[in-house]
Amino acid sequence: MSVDGLDVLDERQAIDTHAHQPTSEFLHDAGGQMMQDAADRFGSEMETWSYEEMIAEYHDAGVGKAVLLGWDAETNTGNPPVPNDYVAEVRDEHPEFFIGFGSVDPLKDDCVEEAIRCVEDLDLSGFKFQQIAQGFDPSQPEYEQLFDTIEDLGVPVVFHGGNSTLGACSPGGRGLQVKYGNPMLIDDVAARHPDLQILIAHPAYPWEKEQLAICQQKGNVYMDLSGWMPRYIDDQVLQYAKSLLEDKVMFGTDYPMLEPEPWLEQFAELDFSEETQRKILWENAKEFFGLD
Ligand SMILES: [Zn+2]
Repeated sequence: MSVDGLDVLDERQAIDTHAHQPTSEFLHDAGGQMMQDAADRFGSEMETWSYEEMIAEYHDAGVGKAVLLGWDAETNTGNPPVPNDYVAEVRDEHPEFFIGFGSVDPLKDDCVEEAIRCVEDLDLSGFKFQQIAQGFDPSQPEYEQLFDTIEDLGVPVVFHGGNSTLGACSPGGRGLQVKYGNPMLIDDVAARHPDLQILIAHPAYPWEKEQLAICQQKGNVYMDLSGWMPRYIDDQVLQYAKSLLEDKVMFGTDYPMLEPEPWLEQFAELDFSEETQRKILWENAKEFFGLD
């Protein structure tokens, strides 16, 4: 274990709630030009590497599991999905490490059937939505059937929260609309589906206060700290993470855009108690994802 100041990682129990594929399937195919915009903005290369390298990197940082997310924003972006069968295949090759989450495009006619197939045939553990890339408002009635179905399937969902760097600084932001990342739209879904367990990914900039209010008020809504290096996370989010919401906030990176070791090094600097570190790094996630 190589992160100074995080003794709690010694048993490699930490769970990353938010990881994408470090491969062309995500970065180049599904991501395409809007991902290139984000990479240019942050001065990173769209480099790819293998799952074996990925897992070794996590193990070195003291992390034992990661949620691997599918991606289907085909209707809105025109880019191919990271197929659910592919996510299941990668999970099956590394079942100890990956928890597989599917993705369905809510704008496709067969999204309800695909959601059922993901759970019943592919044994995926939940669903990821990226409302900005997918171009939909989850509070609208036309998506009720999809969320009813997922609630009945009994698996959790991850919604994107806040702004997105996809399409950063391009003309018109490649047509993507930031408003769909407002967590208030997720509050409507949470109110109508009390048995649907919801994780709002990322500190939801610029709506962190709304997100904190929803996480406090809705027993079925949680959040993670992915997508932001700890040093740049809103102070109020960090205050809540170590007090009122210590049972609801989870560790996540947004791999491969952010990587576990540097993230955890900055997390160690926050001076959270060991009890809170354990909750955020794995205990809350274990409960949320129903792991033993
Ligand atoms: Zn992400």
